[in-house]
Amino acid sequence: MDIVAIYIIAAGGIFVAFFFIRTLHQLCGPWTRAGVLLHLTYLAVNLLLIFFKIDSLTGAGRRAGELALVNLVFPLSAIHLSYLADLLGIIWRSCRKIHRATGWMAVSLLSFYMTVALQTQSYIFPLREAAISLGLLVLLSLPLVRRLSYEIFLRVHQVFAGIFVYGTWRHLPSHSHASKIYLLVALGVFGLTLLSQSIVFLYRNGLFSGRGTPRAIVSFSVSEAEEDSVVNAVHVRVLLPRPVRVEAGQYINLWMPSVSLCSWMQTHPFTVTSWSKGKQDTMELLVKPRTGLTADLARYAPTDEQTEGSSISFLALITGPHGVSEEVGQYESILLLASGCGVAGAIPYLKKAIYGYNTCTSQIRRLHLVWQVESIDEMSAALTLLNRLLKDDIVDGGYILHISIYVRDGLGHKKFLLGDHKRVYLYQGLPDYQSIISLEASGNQIERLSNMWDEQGRMLVMVSATDELRDRIRGVVRDYLHEGVKLSELEYQPSD
Ligand SMILES: Cc1cc2nc3c(=O)[nH]c(=O)nc-3n(C[C@H](O)[C@H](O)[C@H](O)COP(=O)(O)OP(=O)(O)OC[C@H]3O[C@@H](n4cnc5c(N)ncnc54)[C@H](O)[C@@H]3O)c2cc1C
Repeated sequence: MDIVAIYIIAAGGIFVAFFFIRTLHQLCGPWTRAGVLLHLTYLAVNLLLIFFKIDSLTGAGRRAGELALVNLVFPLSAIHLSYLADLLGIIWRSCRKIHRATGWMAVSLLSFYMTVALQTQSYIFPLREAAISLGLLVLLSLPLVRRLSYEIFLRVHQVFAGIFVYGTWRHLPSHSHASKIYLLVALGVFGLTLLSQSIVFLYRNGLFSGRGTPRAIVSFSVSEAEEDSVVNAVHVRVLLPRPVRVEAGQYINLWMPSVSLCSWMQTHPFTVTSWSKGKQDTMELLVKPRTGLTADLARYAPTDEQTEGSSISFLALITGPHGVSEEVGQYESILLLASGCGVAGAIPYLKKAIYGYNTCTSQIRRLHLVWQVESIDEMSAALTLLNRLLKDDIVDGGYILHISIYVRDGLGHKKFLLGDHKRVYLYQGLPDYQSIISLEASGNQIERLSNMWDEQGRMLVMVSATDELRDRIRGVVRDYLHEGVKLSELEYQPSD
């Protein structure tokens, strides 16, 4: 082959590789370098364990089969990922990533095992049911199917996982003690987590304690469109029979069986926007209507002027509060970046930070919320909550909270000041995250004492935004890590 042909093939290969990685990044990402490295290490360890000092292909296949069962311990260990994430002290998304990685690894190993067994005619156990349910599990886990109906995906996923375990157990040969032990460990962990989860669930909801069950009081933010009224947000207040302590940024899984025909089989995670130092007996949630249960809820919005502003009460049960809360007290400045309903994740942190400042229990001197919304209507849904924050932030006229709202369409002005204290600005268009982060990281936005040494403190950037935005912000913050800037991605990240 001549040198030009080699050059063309190499250049074409690099181009295709870049295109492939970029497309994969958009479809399955965003991922970080650390994430990719961890996944590759995980793959390498599994490959090593299969092929290290192996004498035959059959042996490699058998090892792959056993390894698949070991890998399955994680995906099978809890019915609710939120609960498992709490046990491990990690955020829900990380737990889902581990669940996904171990699940796909087990599927690949089992596929290898079956291929080898078929080729060498040494099918140790006929995995018919297990193979079929595993194949269906894989198909149903594809993002396309998941997006069609999340709830159906979730329930069918759980049913097929059950059939898979049953099929595998039935066909394990009686002498294969190790394989049985792996499966028993997975089932044992599952049983334990289910039991403890059920006890906490019964206690938290006051069931069998004579205190009554939690109720959800639902009200709506409605705006008038040309033909119809549009529900911008659903406000849910969950009244609890037992007060509970909720850390900033935590969420609950809400079960509201009487909202619609199928709502009894659905639980949905929502961030608790209310925060207080002690326990709360009422939790507040800000819900964006989508296409499933949240849309069913929005259909209860009053249509005539007489009932406008009224609320409806539903039976509700909860699990949680779940999730990891970021410690904010040791930072001098906090920048919260939110898009759309992601502001729900930012509000409790703002409350906590203002409380810390007012009571002199934290080092915070500046809070800046940058909120990106599509329209003025979307913004109006959270205005009451933001107004309450501004009211709390009044000690000594210090005003540490600043809010910048970027509205993509319909503002009519490039920049617009709201209120008297230069604390809230509305902008038309999209935020320039590079310059916002750079300005905040410089520390110049904080008034410093001129007659004494006032050392600049650390800065925290918190994000609750779409995948694409988060990816961009990660890239910007990376340049400021050496200046002590820390990035924290909140539990709730809106998908659009
Ligand atoms: C930790 C966390 C906190 C959240 N906090 C809030 C919040 O404060 N306010 C808010 O409006 N939304 C929040 N969400 C998103 C919210 O859970 C979904 O928008 C809601 O479940 C959609 O319900 P639906 O039936 O109308 O969804 P559908 O229209 O059927 O689905 C829309 C999308 O919502 C997601 N989704 C649906 N059901 C679930 C589920 N049971 N678990 C996880 N994701 C699901 C899926 O990505 C799906 O593609 C949070 C999500 C998580 C993971």
